[in-house]
Amino acid sequence: MTKYFSADLGGITPYVAGEQPQDKSYIKLNTNESPYPPAHGVEAAAAQQSAKLNLYSDPTYLPLKKAIASVYGLSPENVLCGNGSDEVLFFIFRAFCSKDNGMACPDVSYGFYPVLCNLLNIPYTAVELAPDFTVNPQDYKGFTNICIANPNAQTGIYLPLGGVEQIIKNVSGVAVVDEAYIDFGGQSAASLINKYPNLIVVQTMSKSRSLAGGRVGFALANRQLISDLEAVRSSFNPYNINRMSMFAAVSSLEDTEYFHSCIDKIVHAREYTVTELKKLGFDVLLSKANFVLAKSGKMGGGELYLKLKENGILVRHFDSPRIKDYIRVTIGSRMQMAQLITTLKKILSGEA
Ligand SMILES: *Cc1c(COP(=O)(O)O)cnc(C)c1O
Repeated sequence: MTKYFSADLGGITPYVAGEQPQDKSYIKLNTNESPYPPAHGVEAAAAQQSAKLNLYSDPTYLPLKKAIASVYGLSPENVLCGNGSDEVLFFIFRAFCSKDNGMACPDVSYGFYPVLCNLLNIPYTAVELAPDFTVNPQDYKGFTNICIANPNAQTGIYLPLGGVEQIIKNVSGVAVVDEAYIDFGGQSAASLINKYPNLIVVQTMSKSRSLAGGRVGFALANRQLISDLEAVRSSFNPYNINRMSMFAAVSSLEDTEYFHSCIDKIVHAREYTVTELKKLGFDVLLSKANFVLAKSGKMGGGELYLKLKENGILVRHFDSPRIKDYIRVTIGSRMQMAQLITTLKKILSGEA
């Protein structure tokens, strides 16, 4: 770091994103992207806007707000969008957390939460998950602000809505429920946003809607909270939703049939993968997401990750105490998952 780097950022540890190798083609099961291309109309919608890139995008992005609101039976005033849900999380943490009230999150969850707290000088508390990696709602009593991912990141475990409601009621500040994976199983808390004054639901189009590269995420909350978030967004970057992504996202949201067909395929491929991994002796956590966290009794997580990479398959390994023995495998197409299983068999029998 240079001597010019702001002193209050001294201890900053940036988020490490999953690899996006540009050199060689891998079966890419490491960053929870969809194996399927965006919906049919998306390419044309983005191309049409590309001819107008000389003009700023619409800072109100109302067509996108309307399209998202209609999916959840809400109104556009209940929606805020970001350049990916990572940016939405930034707006939320900046708007509602401070050095006095902090943020609490599960100890095994999305690695971006502590990074963001660090950047924004927000005291961060890691709340330990139960030994079986489930969230216990009682553990969140007494905190001001909390953020949980549901289904949880890295584990894939889903907390039923009753438990989520208990947590929301137990905190005095905002309760952020990050539903990046909710479309793959589980019930959204979006229906509760007008019941609780402190609930913010965050979702993304990166995973279930095949738009990771489009960078569109959103928050759903009552209109007062959204109005606060809009104030932060407009103070930071009023044009955060670029025009190509906005229309790509609207087009994607219109094609519900394609959306459901992709989800069905991924859920089936997940069931197949879990069954096959268990046959190979893996311990697999019960996932409602588009990934599974699995541990082989025969080989450590780091070694397995490297072996798979050598064999052209990328998965994710987290070198953190509680999950270092596991690998996280994104659910791709059925064919990709069959290749994963074949390769794992070879690796574990010493043939590869
Ligand atoms: C992937 C992910 C995000 C970020 O998604 P964006 O691509 O920034 O929309 C947010 N939260 C969780 C839990 C995720 O897994």
